[in-house]
Order: sequence, then C-alpha cells, then structure tokens
Amino acid sequence: MRYISTRGASPSVGFVDAVLAGLAPDGGLYVPEVWPTFSRADIAGFAGKSYADVATEVLAKFVGDDISRETLTDMCEEAYATFNHPAVVPLTQIAPSGFIAELFHGPSLAFKDVAMQLLARLSDHVLALSHRTQTILCATSGDTGGAAVEAFRGRANTKIVAMFPDGRISEVQRRFMTTAGETNVRCVAVDGTFDDCQAILKLSLSDEHLKQSVGLSAVNSINFARIVAQSVYYFTTAVALGAPHRPVAFAVPSGNFGDGFAGYVAKTMGLPIATILVATNANDILARAFGTGRYIRGTVQATQSPAMDIQSASNFERLYFEGVQRNGIETGRAFTAFIETGAIDIPPQALAHMRETFQGIMVTEGETSRTILATFNETGQIIDPHTAVAVSAFHRTRGLDAPVIILSTASPAKFPEAVSEVIGERPPVPRRAQGLAGKPERFDHLPAEIEAVTAYLLTFAGT
Ligand SMILES: *Cc1c(COP(=O)(O)O)cnc(C)c1O
Repeated sequence: MRYISTRGASPSVGFVDAVLAGLAPDGGLYVPEVWPTFSRADIAGFAGKSYADVATEVLAKFVGDDISRETLTDMCEEAYATFNHPAVVPLTQIAPSGFIAELFHGPSLAFKDVAMQLLARLSDHVLALSHRTQTILCATSGDTGGAAVEAFRGRANTKIVAMFPDGRISEVQRRFMTTAGETNVRCVAVDGTFDDCQAILKLSLSDEHLKQSVGLSAVNSINFARIVAQSVYYFTTAVALGAPHRPVAFAVPSGNFGDGFAGYVAKTMGLPIATILVATNANDILARAFGTGRYIRGTVQATQSPAMDIQSASNFERLYFEGVQRNGIETGRAFTAFIETGAIDIPPQALAHMRETFQGIMVTEGETSRTILATFNETGQIIDPHTAVAVSAFHRTRGLDAPVIILSTASPAKFPEAVSEVIGERPPVPRRAQGLAGKPERFDHLPAEIEAVTAYLLTFAGT
C-alpha cells in the first residue's frame, strides 16, 4: 500500500514513512493511493469479534507488507488492553434510536487514546527496526496532549513536546500532560490559541533542517495512522447495531475533523453509513462549510468544549481532495491560498460529494448545557460537554431512518466544572484520574512564535 499527498507534489511513500512523517513534504496530508475495501461478508464477520481483532483486520488493509500480521495482532492486543472496559468502546442507549459509543475508557479518559495507544506502539516498532529516534511535536486543544503523553511516556525511541494554549484547557486535561514525570516528556504552555499551536506545528514540520536535526514527527490527526485507528470503532459499533444488514448514522463532535473523516474512511471501505452529523460548537467552520459551500475561518471562541475550539480543521483537506476527484494540484492551490485568505469556495461537485455523507450542525453553549441536564434527567447518564454537542445534534435531526451512534469523546470526569455547574453534582472520578491533583506539575511557557519553539526543540533533542 502506497500513500500519496493531497497536494500532489510529493513522491508516494509506504505506510511506515507516512506514519513517521505526519505531513508530506509538499505540505499536504497523506492518503492511500487506493482505498481498500471490505466485502459485506467481511463486515458481517466482525460481529462478536473482539475490538483488537477488528482493529487488526482494519489496520492490515492499510499496513500492507510493512509490518507482519503477527506483530500487528500483538500491537492491537496490547494497545486495547490498556482500556478499562472489555468491549473497549461500549454502547449505551439514551433514546429509541440514539446510542452513545463510549470512547473514553483509555488511560487519559478521552477518545484520543483509541488511536494514540496504537500509534505509539506502531512508531516505536518501526523506529527500532530502522535504528532511528524521533521527537514528536504535538499541538493540543486539550486531549491529544494527554493521550500522547500517556502513550509515549518512557518509550525508548521517542521524545515528546506537548504544546497547549495557555489557560484554554481544563485543569484535568493539563494535569494528564504535566504530571508525567518522565525525562522524555516536555510540556509547553503557548501564549496563544490552539490554532496558533497548530500553525507552529505545521511550520515546524515544513522546516526540513529542523525535521532532520531532531527527527521531528507529529501525532496530530494529520497522521493517517490515527485516522485508520479511529475508523475501527465505526465498524464495531455499527456491526453491534445490525450493520451491514441495515445502515447506521453517526453524530460526531468535531473540531479538527479527524474523527469525522475516519467515518468517511469506514464508509468508503464498505460500511453502510447513511449520514454523519458533524456537530460543532460555536467554532462552526465545518458546519458552515457543509451548509453553505464556503469554508471560511472565523475567530476562535472559547467554549465549554475546548477540544473543539478550532477554526481550521486540518482533515477537511483530505475530504476536499476526495471531493475534487483527487486532484492534488487543485487541492494544493485551495489550501495554500487558505493560509493567506482564510477562505475556500468549495466547487459544486465537491460539495455534492461531501453532502452525500456529511451534514453540519452548530450547537450553542446554551443548548449544550440544556442537553447535559436533559440527558441526566431522562437517563441518569452524565455526559461531558463535547458529547453533549453531538447529542444535541442528534436531537435536532429528524427523519434519519437509521439508528444513530453518538460518539462520546471524553469522560465527564475530564470536565467536572462544566458538568457540575449544570447538573449540580460532580461526575465520579474514575480510578485513573484519582491522584492527579496531588502530583507535581512541570511545564514551560513560550510565546506563540515559531523561533521560540524551534530553539526549544533543538535544545531538548540535544539533551
Ligand atoms: C479531539 C476531540 C474532539 C474533536 O475531534 P476531531 O477529530 O479533532 O474532530 C472532540 N471531543 C474531544 C473530547 C476531543 O478530545
């Protein structure tokens, strides 16, 4: 399996190189040269299989000959053994046709663990094989950092720097990163927004000198391995509700669109997905894009669902590339111009292609709070603000002739303040988060400037 860039100006690479590079040299994102598929019988055969087994089947389609089947099986088993639930991603029901997929039973209580636990094992394995080391620079809107630090802490071949927007993430989110106490982990509070952090990350990755000197890599959802890992729970949850014999729909709380795009991947591979509701908070660039056909950056607003406070959804480029029938030149032009102008007019044919799968819905802060309360009153279930955005989108949508699987991306225990303000009680603290409050934190402060981050990386990599 070869991987090509969405901007069409980089040579194709194998799975291992696509994973280690993150971004392609031309600034584009890697996608498989050809989408692999499953037959209906293959998908039906996932029923009753363990999560790790389905993950192995899905991964195997993308890895090609780069990693042996045996190694892949071991990695998937190990990765999902870190989850505190035998189903890994269990479903609970909140309405006649509404089901919540709990993606938060991993080490950092957020859905980012699902992909990161696997990615850490994948990359450590291939680094060891090629006698290389890497420095991961991670830009986090809250949860990626914690998941990445949990996954990579103490690993022999990796150093990791997690950048987060100072003061814009929850205390529990911050503590998952800053209390790791490992020498291969550094955390940086950046004086800016998540979009600033992401822009610094992208600039760093396009700096060839820096890339070579520190073995720079990324684990953000621009990394294709994460997308693949996330497509697995689309299969397991859909099959649990009757796919492929009947179609299902999904409601996805969205920011950088990695999760939403993973649904597109599952559909392209053959899973009968009727619709994917892309639920956003007030940072609604995606909801507006699907609604109006114009992808226009707004100003980032701080909300109760900070992991989605994003106005430039990296993975949208992958969908755009598919929408313009994989025209890399056209995609490169649109997304290079976007950096300057902050706007892209989606060609009508591409928009029509997107709308075959996606429907965007913006959810206000008030609706989010009311949904947390209503869900608690009606079902006794406590949901976090990110999940609540998707639950609101589910309730607002009529006429979906399929069960809707709502992706629950964080444990309510990660957002105790936001939740208790609404329901009047604090969510129970899972054993994994107990003790975080007592541990010493360690992090540095930097301005939102590429020069400062570059210098920091060079110093850290040299230690
Ligand atoms: C990252 C994150 C999201 C958004 O996912 P994307 O793949 O960036 O769209 C939603 N909820 C939570 C809790 C997250 O951590």
